[in-house]
Amino acid sequence: MSHDVVIVGARCAGAPLAMLLARQGRRVLVLDRTRFPSDTVSTHFMWPRTTAFLDRWGLREKLAATGCPPIDVVRMHWGPVTVQGRPAAVDGNDTMYCPRRTVLDALLVQAARDAGAEVREGCTVRNLMTEDGRVAGIVADDAEGKSFTAMARVTVGADGLFSHVAAAVEAPIERTHPPLTCGFYAYWSGVPTEGVEFYLREGRDVLVFPTHDGRTCIWVGRSACEWNLYRSDVEGNYLAGLDSSLRERVGAGRRETPFKGTNKLPNQYRRSHGPGWALVGDAAYHRDPLTGMGIGDAFLGAELLAEALHTGLEGNSDDVLDAALAGYEKAFRERTGPVFDYTLQSAALKNPAALVPFYEAIARNSGLTQSLMDVLGGTLPARALFNASTITRYIGGA
Ligand SMILES: Cc1cc2nc3c(=O)[nH]c(=O)nc-3n(C[C@H](O)[C@H](O)[C@H](O)COP(=O)(O)OP(=O)(O)OC[C@H]3O[C@@H](n4cnc5c(N)ncnc54)[C@H](O)[C@@H]3O)c2cc1C
Repeated sequence: MSHDVVIVGARCAGAPLAMLLARQGRRVLVLDRTRFPSDTVSTHFMWPRTTAFLDRWGLREKLAATGCPPIDVVRMHWGPVTVQGRPAAVDGNDTMYCPRRTVLDALLVQAARDAGAEVREGCTVRNLMTEDGRVAGIVADDAEGKSFTAMARVTVGADGLFSHVAAAVEAPIERTHPPLTCGFYAYWSGVPTEGVEFYLREGRDVLVFPTHDGRTCIWVGRSACEWNLYRSDVEGNYLAGLDSSLRERVGAGRRETPFKGTNKLPNQYRRSHGPGWALVGDAAYHRDPLTGMGIGDAFLGAELLAEALHTGLEGNSDDVLDAALAGYEKAFRERTGPVFDYTLQSAALKNPAALVPFYEAIARNSGLTQSLMDVLGGTLPARALFNASTITRYIGGA
């Protein structure tokens, strides 16, 4: 049977896209080489902008029912200053979560199935099929290694940073900045945290998140150039990266998992549409994880692409479809561009002492605190707060 859309990859981008298209009544196949529940190398904090998608899709309550602790306070430590607050609600939703990917991704896959998408796990896409210069489907191996094909009007690569679909269509990288950070994380018991804690220091960032099963996920990042040094003694360097008070708390707890880490953190947009194909999620756009936007951006991409395909698949015109896919890419880049720039600035891990007085002013002023929280949460452009006139107004000529 031919499908409207075949999606390669069934995590944060692919599974919601399959769900949304199936809810439109489209014939959708989504494949993943893994079987769910399945973990991946990623921390998993979700700002209100991210949980708002789950809310809209009817999945937030399901996530809450998995025992994922709701998060309602953010503590941002910048140099000697601590700013505490929470981002404003997005579509009435101000709760944050940090669900294990084993739980979140399985929930998204189930939602795709429930909506009527055909989900095939343990299937690896090997090649794309083409017809008259357009991508026309996939060639894949099933779990037993048996090859099969699936035809579709649109093939979507939701297959992550190292996208096979992107490579097959030779999607160019159109904006890029080399990796700025690297890091390791692990899950701890006995290290309670009320809300999330972010520590931005010269050359390092530490992120502390409460997650399922009473555990705390702690990421310790460093400048990318320190990767080899960091890897030479992961535990020693990880612990050395913690502020002394946090190191004491961690010392009283217990590490429950091995360290996981990566330095493969490029900042880039890929061309994400062409004749009969599209990219979504990390395949289309990757940015340093420091700002915690990847899952929300995958959700955003899924929603924008589903909307574009709703129009593009009406009728049988390739021109209409191609125009809709071009519109998707444009809309996605407009929505994510400001945070891309802000992420590059933050991930440089520079802590200019000159900004400490401004952070002190932010900590003293509830309006500025709210603005900072909204910048962190990805709903206020950084330049709305970090601009010369606001900074001068609050810290004078200093
Ligand atoms: C260290 C780290 C920390 C992060 N922390 C956060 C955070 O706190 N908050 C946040 O919002 N984001 C975070 N992110 C980003 C987030 O993990 C990603 O943006 C998100 O996972 C992207 O989802 P995706 O569905 O596009 O891709 P992926 O999650 O990479 O999923 C791609 C899927 O495609 C499948 N696949 C690949 N190739 C094939 C093939 N040939 N055939 C079949 N299947 C295939 C894979 O098996 C995989 O399941 C972090 C990332 C990293 C690396």
